[in-house]
Amino acid sequence: MTTVFKFGGASIKDVNSIIHISNFLKEGTHDNLFIVFSAMGKVTNMLEDIVDAYVINSKDLSVLVEQVKLFHYNIMEGLFEEEELIFDEVNNVFVELDWILEEEPYNNYSYNYDQIVSLGEILSTKIMSQYLRKIGYDHKWIDARDIIRTDNTFRDAKIDWKQTTTLINKKVKSGIYLTQGFIGSTSENFTTTLGREGSDFTAAILAFSLEAKEVVIWKDVPGMMNADPRYFKNAELLPNVSYDEAIELAFFGAKVIHPKTIQPLKKKNIPLFIKSFINILNKGTLIKDKMDLASLYPSYIVKENQILLSISDPELSFIVEEHMSQIFSLLALHSVRVNMMQNSAVSFSICIDNDKYRVPLLIAGLQKDFKVSYNQQLTLYTVRHYKKEDLDILLRNKKILLEQKSRNTIQIIAFEEDYTKA
Ligand code: ADP
Ligand code: ASP
Ligand code: MG
Repeated sequence: MTTVFKFGGASIKDVNSIIHISNFLKEGTHDNLFIVFSAMGKVTNMLEDIVDAYVINSKDLSVLVEQVKLFHYNIMEGLFEEEELIFDEVNNVFVELDWILEEEPYNNYSYNYDQIVSLGEILSTKIMSQYLRKIGYDHKWIDARDIIRTDNTFRDAKIDWKQTTTLINKKVKSGIYLTQGFIGSTSENFTTTLGREGSDFTAAILAFSLEAKEVVIWKDVPGMMNADPRYFKNAELLPNVSYDEAIELAFFGAKVIHPKTIQPLKKKNIPLFIKSFINILNKGTLIKDKMDLASLYPSYIVKENQILLSISDPELSFIVEEHMSQIFSLLALHSVRVNMMQNSAVSFSICIDNDKYRVPLLIAGLQKDFKVSYNQQLTLYTVRHYKKEDLDILLRNKKILLEQKSRNTIQIIAFEEDYTKA
């Protein structure tokens, strides 16, 4: 049975980390292993900047392209001798990028985005594969676009599970494979991406299709914690979390794991480990059925860069089902997910991620029939299994706009600030 490993950008961000991960893999004893890599370091962000510069025809474009090239060449110079073939292979990917950028952008931002941003994962896996080969780690490189079939919702592609499972089982035999996270392709062979941070989801798709024994997602933190340790210095490791609790935590925005990751694993009862790639021997977090200790801890989730839209009828008549259905159709059309919502008699409020392309399109769509007002630069705090005392500390000095409570969860929208570290 196969094990699936996933490594994110932080684990392969420079020469030393690549050597560390490669040695770890080489020492491993798995006969059947699928390894998923994201783009290196912050390359996805760099490529996003390239897309933005390309679509607005900015003069910064060539500088940004040079930066991405330089980043990868610097890494390669630390790993390979100059005459090695990998330099040609990587050059070819950059030629592909240059060709795309020479053409006029298509009138579809998300399509342009996917063709360009997907190259980050192609570059990282080519380099990782070549380095692993060089140190004697035998494996096969496989293009995720040959096995992950999606629809054409660019930038948020939906998986065609039937086709994907068939393709994976046809193309994958026993042994060790290496592939890209985050990317797939349509039946017409257009490259798609699965949404930011989507490589975790790729690991789950592979595990589901191969009925894997387990998935291990290697992170720069000890595991899933009850808060983001970057913001909360007292964050504690959650050693055991049930699928259901993990789904809730990820859904509300616990960034450590992509929200779509858990469901496919739950369906096939495949355990998920989240472990530290720095302290490889530590146990980390085990997510599986009926194993919940997470509910003993309050979990804090912080989502920054939120926007709260208040939508009302221009005549100030009641917001009724027909309005709701129209609003939700527009949300679906623009692939915008609602993080929190609340309605009153004459207005309906939604808190969403302030995506710089989706939100203006959504607002423009809504404004055809509704009055829309909004507040930006907000933070959404979600606390699961909250205790009153902890909440008081968290909310101290915050300017709160909206609050919603259920038995297990409280959500609060407040103005963004450099909040006191709890
Ligand atoms: P990668 O892209 O390498 O897979 P990410 O950076 O997407 O990893 O996710 C790891 C980061 O998630 C950590 O560095 C941490 O700051 C953040 N994080 C947010 N919430 C949590 C949480 N509940 N537990 C652990 N880490 C969290
Ligand atoms: N490289 C992509 C991103 O940064 C996918 C991932 O890392 O999971 O969003
Ligand atoms: Mg990530």
